[in-house]
Amino acid sequence: MANGTWVEASKCPRCGLTGDHVKAETRQLSAGRGVTRGAVLHKLYCRNSRCRWYNTSWEVQVNPDGTIPDPDAPRRGKQFPKPDAALLAQMQSNFQAIHDASLTPGGEIRNR
Ligand SMILES: [Zn+2]
Repeated sequence: MANGTWVEASKCPRCGLTGDHVKAETRQLSAGRGVTRGAVLHKLYCRNSRCRWYNTSWEVQVNPDGTIPDPDAPRRGKQFPKPDAALLAQMQSNFQAIHDASLTPGGEIRNR
């Protein structure tokens, strides 16, 4: 999922201040699980002395197309199990049922 912006991603996850982008530590990511080929990993440090993350770095991955993946995207072996296919199908059919009901006259909850 790529929904971040650089402005958001460059802010300290702790205090929200924009981090110090240490360009010397920028490195090319090797393609792999959850990593788009050509993606670059930028390193930022919090320079807010009152922040718990003072001088602590975080990494921001930027894809070749300029998108920034969700920080929780699997990159360092952190993986989440795929939703169970049967559960997924059931959820989708539930949503569909709710959607259908909302289109049926009388099924809609009206405000008057
Ligand atoms: Zn901070």
